[in-house]
Amino acid sequence: MTTIEHEHAVDASADEQAGQAADRPLTGLDRCDSCGAQAYVRALLGGSELLFCAHHARKHEAKLRPVAEAWHDESHKLIED
Ligand SMILES: [Zn+2]
Repeated sequence: MTTIEHEHAVDASADEQAGQAADRPLTGLDRCDSCGAQAYVRALLGGSELLFCAHHARKHEAKLRPVAEAWHDESHKLIED
C-alpha cells in the first residue's frame, strides 16, 4: 500500500546520509579500521567508508587515494593540537 512512499523515503535519506558522511567531521568516536586508534582520515572506496588514524592513512594513502571517491584528511589537527 505504501510501497512507493516508503521507497522514496529510503532513497532520500540514503542520499542525505551519503552526503553527510562525506562531509561530516571526524570525531573521537571514529576509529581507525586497522588499529582502533582515533581516526583522522576518512576514505570512500566503492561506496564503503574506511577510517584511518594518521599513521595508517600515510601507510595506505599512496595505494588508496588515487582510487578513492573521497579522501577526507583531518590529520593536520594532530599537529595543530
Ligand atoms: Zn591505525
